[in-house]
Amino acid sequence: MKTGRHKATVGFIGIGKMGLPMASRIAAHGYPLKVYDISAAAIMEFCNRFADARAAKTLKEIGRSCKVVILMLPDSDVVKRVLFGEKDTLVPHLSRGSIVIDMSSSNPAVTREIGPRLEESGVDFIDAPVSGGVKRAVDGSLAIMVGGDSTVIARVQPLLSTMGHSIIETGMLGSGHAMKALNNYVSAAGLLVACEALKIGVDFGIPPDKIIAVLNASTGKNNSTENKMMQFVVPKQFNSGFSLGLMRKDITIATDLSKRLGSKTLLGEILLKSWTDAETKLGGAADHTEIFRMLDG
Ligand code: NAD
Repeated sequence: MKTGRHKATVGFIGIGKMGLPMASRIAAHGYPLKVYDISAAAIMEFCNRFADARAAKTLKEIGRSCKVVILMLPDSDVVKRVLFGEKDTLVPHLSRGSIVIDMSSSNPAVTREIGPRLEESGVDFIDAPVSGGVKRAVDGSLAIMVGGDSTVIARVQPLLSTMGHSIIETGMLGSGHAMKALNNYVSAAGLLVACEALKIGVDFGIPPDKIIAVLNASTGKNNSTENKMMQFVVPKQFNSGFSLGLMRKDITIATDLSKRLGSKTLLGEILLKSWTDAETKLGGAADHTEIFRMLDG
């Protein structure tokens, strides 16, 4: 993709909690942008911020006008619907040599099925999911794990750099999505165990801020103790911007992967059950930090 004054128009599909700040970074770097979402409110919010951004009314319009299209959608089912759905759909309208980048946290097995189907249409496909949440999407410092053909990745490297600082190539198509699920498997375990330590410590009579201060000064420190406990859990704000349903989805992907590969886990089933029970009780739209409520009554 060209850099400088003549950048190709980028299509961005899925202007949600993450898509909005990510697309904003792309627009702020001077890329002509065309956005699409099934939510009219989401599109309006974006176009109000960026006068130069254009809203597409259909996926066909995105396909016809963009050589690079980014997907930031809830899951693989939605990704497949957008690409190959029955009514308005993207793939038939993409020109040969186009690149589709799936930045959603999708299922790697589905991603590996999609690749050859797009190849039949002469369209390149890479997976580039992200980590860092809304905060790091806003400041453009996401971690991006990228799977697929290195020459295709090189063509969109400048575009990816507008959204992230650590861009790590993980290998074959789908390996970025596999790594994303594994990262959130670790992250979900770290949050749950930090919540449990908080609950036990408080029941013992230790003030919450002391509990988190000790963990952060000691070997129990993790991303949740540093960036979630005092910010969202202890004050019961529960507004990190990442939903419980999406976290449960990522753990499901990781545990499915372990089953398919025969990789032994001790915590996998317990973790999946804990987060599935939380989703049943609190709803998928609850913030993922609300997992603490499962311990707090
Ligand atoms: P979100 O629900 O806020 O956004 C998803 C967007 O996709 C919504 O605006 C929705 O209207 C749109 N959408 C749904 N179906 C569509 C369709 N058929 N066509 C077009 N648009 C459609 O979710 P999010 O939190 O922004 O997460 C998006 C992806 O990023 C997920 O895969 C999630 O797991 C991943 N992720 C989220 C975070 C986070 O902190 N929120 C962090 C890293 C990765």
